[in-house]
Amino acid sequence: MVDCAVVGAGFVGLCAARRLAEARPDWRIALIDAQRVGFGASGRCSGFLVDLVDFTSKMKPQERAGYVSTARQGIELLRALSVEHGFDCEWDDKGWVRGAVGEKGMRFLEAWPAWLDEVGIEYQRLDGQGMRAITGSKLYQAGIRLPGYPLVHPGKLVRGLREILPRNVVVFEESPVRSVQQVPAGGYRLEVGETAGFFAVSCQRLLLTTNGYLPSQRFHANRVFPCYTFGSMTRVLSEQEQGQLGGESEWGLLAMDPMGTTIRRTHDQRLLFRNTAHYAPKLRISNQLRAKMRRFHRRALQARYPQLADIEFEYTWSGLMGTSHNCQVLFGETRPGLFTAAAFNAAGIAMGAAAGELLADLAVGNDSERLRAMCALPAPTWMPPEPFRSWGGRMVVARKNAQAAEYI
Ligand SMILES: Cc1cc2nc3c(=O)[nH]c(=O)nc-3n(C[C@H](O)[C@H](O)[C@H](O)COP(=O)(O)OP(=O)(O)OC[C@H]3O[C@@H](n4cnc5c(N)ncnc54)[C@H](O)[C@@H]3O)c2cc1C
Repeated sequence: MVDCAVVGAGFVGLCAARRLAEARPDWRIALIDAQRVGFGASGRCSGFLVDLVDFTSKMKPQERAGYVSTARQGIELLRALSVEHGFDCEWDDKGWVRGAVGEKGMRFLEAWPAWLDEVGIEYQRLDGQGMRAITGSKLYQAGIRLPGYPLVHPGKLVRGLREILPRNVVVFEESPVRSVQQVPAGGYRLEVGETAGFFAVSCQRLLLTTNGYLPSQRFHANRVFPCYTFGSMTRVLSEQEQGQLGGESEWGLLAMDPMGTTIRRTHDQRLLFRNTAHYAPKLRISNQLRAKMRRFHRRALQARYPQLADIEFEYTWSGLMGTSHNCQVLFGETRPGLFTAAAFNAAGIAMGAAAGELLADLAVGNDSERLRAMCALPAPTWMPPEPFRSWGGRMVVARKNAQAAEYI
């Protein structure tokens, strides 16, 4: 029996558990994850801390400002924790860039300065030469740099957050929650683990922070859908290869199209590529699909760095995100005593960290302006039942991949 259980130990669950434990030092809190902490999307993402994302262009200016300011609180929270606890997470404030390729990419890029001005974000415009000076690639026609917007090693940041959890948080790793039942007298009962090592957890309050896994747990399947994306990373480049690459020694670039290619030249001198998405409601990714995605990453490498076209990829991986039809976050007390934050994707690190803290505030009844601003953000729109949902999901993702093909 614990006072509160948090299921899912990504950025959201870790920030929620920490905040809960600090607000209620006398509570026993269980943080439960099906995998080892850091093995989910939070630990395997690309490490860009973002507040202004493409889909916010469809929001009203006031809502957009609310979204950006909440995500910015997440960035500042992670920054403060990293500094205070000395996380070794390769925090880099130089500022990542957004790069435009082709006519459509240039059109997307042209819209950005107005949004950046509106929410008060400083930026530097870059022409093709400027982009080449950073990335070493001739492919980009123009771009913008956002000084002060951090890049991190996500796995190390997640591990740091786990290490600083207060003592009243007990972490259960490799402990999948199999079922969640509401107890008529109040609270919830969780069945956890494999048949060999099964146990039950009862709690007064439950925080569900499983993001893309939420629908498979039979929660909010009509609001949140699972979506995979894929990354590949080269081996460490030799000094000669680094010379052939040119540009700065460490940088990150987001494509103008969210489905386009994200690239990083990492601290340890590898090139990391991420692109495309895949809808897989059964939460299975075949080796064949992973090999296909690796070919997309190879194409992205060849288009940018023909001089290094054959360099080996040491790793290719998938990661599961949650998203919603209108890309908005699901947040709130969705049943009595059950608090949920999910559908994090493009700005998942920043927004996830902020939402995690605020979900804990909501669970303990700590009101604040920040919490009210989070609750005022638009909710995910409704999606139809199966089989229409899956047809729609596959179509939307396929269309986005096709749209992004020219940037790959
Ligand atoms: C390849 C990739 C690159 C990305 N790049 C970026 C980026 O650069 N910037 C950015 O902001 N966002 C990025 N994202 C998105 C970002 O990773 C997510 O939005 C964010 O990590 C979501 O955090 P979370 O805590 O909600 O979910 P997760 O990190 O997915 O955590 C949920 C946890 O729940 C656990 N869980 C699921 N089911 C159960 C169960 N039944 N029982 C117990 N535990 C369970 C999972 O094991 C998982 O650890 C990227 C994602 C991927 C996949």
